Amino acid sequence: MSLAAAPKNEPYFPLAGLADDGWSNDTEATATCYCGKVQMKFPHEAPGLVDTFACSCSDCKSFSATSFATNFVALDSHTSFVRGEELLTEFSQSKTIGSGGWMKQHFCKVCGTLMFRTGEVAPGVRIMRVGTVDDHMLAQTKLAPRIEQYTKDKFSWIGPLDTEIKCEASMDFGAVLGKTDRWAPKAKA
Ligand SMILES: [Zn+2]
Ligand SMILES: [Zn+2]
Repeated sequence: MSLAAAPKNEPYFPLAGLADDGWSNDTEATATCYCGKVQMKFPHEAPGLVDTFACSCSDCKSFSATSFATNFVALDSHTSFVRGEELLTEFSQSKTIGSGGWMKQHFCKVCGTLMFRTGEVAPGVRIMRVGTVDDHMLAQTKLAPRIEQYTKDKFSWIGPLDTEIKCEASMDFGAVLGKTDRWAPKAKA
């Protein structure tokens, strides 16, 4: 089986890391680190799921150790740990952050997987990582990026991403993030 060959609209859990107990249902799913010791539960419906975005900023390249990052933003109040919270380590800095405020990495100290980030400018949310989601069909569909930011710093060989919103640099978090009816239609003002 492969993701391309997997039945659409059905969960798909490839062998990815050492855990084999990831799951997803109509409203929630798991995200697990590479060694399997840290597992979280998150919402993939509004209001718990706020938004999804891809980012090509220099920070994302550095801390993800690859070419760009894909993220989803979930309310703190709607995410929780299945196991391993005590195994998370934090690293915080503000030198490279555009807003000047701190951003903090929360990663597994056993295997190094970055589970989520938190930031001074966005209290109450966790910026989680699409690559930790156990159900890859969910990652491919509902968690596909709606916003792409830092296109000015994107490697030229990365093809166009099919996103609703493009930002040359950082999105205006207050104006953009979560302003969508993609997951739960909201009354228009
Ligand atoms: Zn781990
Ligand atoms: Zn970034």
